[in-house]
Amino acid sequence: MAGNLIACLGPMFSGKTEELVRLVNREKYAGRTFKVYKPKKDNRYDITDVVTNNGITIPANVIKEDGYQIIIDFSEFPVTDIFIDEIQFFESKIIDHIRILLSFGKNIYYSGLSTTSENKPFPFKDADPNTGCPHMGDLLAGIHHSQIIVHNAFCSKCQAEAYFTHAIIEKTEAIKVGGKEDYEALCSKCYHEVMPLIIPDYYSEDIKEKIRELQRLHGWKEQI
Ligand SMILES: [Zn+2]
Repeated sequence: MAGNLIACLGPMFSGKTEELVRLVNREKYAGRTFKVYKPKKDNRYDITDVVTNNGITIPANVIKEDGYQIIIDFSEFPVTDIFIDEIQFFESKIIDHIRILLSFGKNIYYSGLSTTSENKPFPFKDADPNTGCPHMGDLLAGIHHSQIIVHNAFCSKCQAEAYFTHAIIEKTEAIKVGGKEDYEALCSKCYHEVMPLIIPDYYSEDIKEKIRELQRLHGWKEQI
């Protein structure tokens, strides 16, 4: 029987890593065998632990972003459940690794950001810089998920439900790992006050103007 794939998604500060920690603790109480992984790139708080923004830690295996280590470990010691934190920082090979491990009946849990602070699908590490493909959408739509848990944060400006991550600092690279000094969670209203709504180029001038009117009405930043 194929294993279950469970995703914990949401913007930064939405508690998705805390959810992963909760699921890991559940394993410990039940005495199940499991392994926790995180990508090398995510060194925000600690190089060996999965650390939530609240400082809760669980031991993790820090591995290269190609993810092959998960397959190697599994061939040597086939645990029942596999946990992957911050999956968006891996290379897209992780999708194939997951597909293979699921077929062996293993359960896989992961946490990740589905979108960037520019509100685009989060590109995997090996993505084409021009197209941003492959990205998190390929993982979400490419493999059957048993459960997708979506977390919201609270808006740092108005405290409404927030599902956008916004970069406070000037980003010097497309994907920048950061914490509270670099990013904030914003609701749709506050996000669009600072980040322009993307109006597709192929829209006719008529339609574009209608959208601009709506933007002015909402007090949102206009597309440059
Ligand atoms: Zn807000």
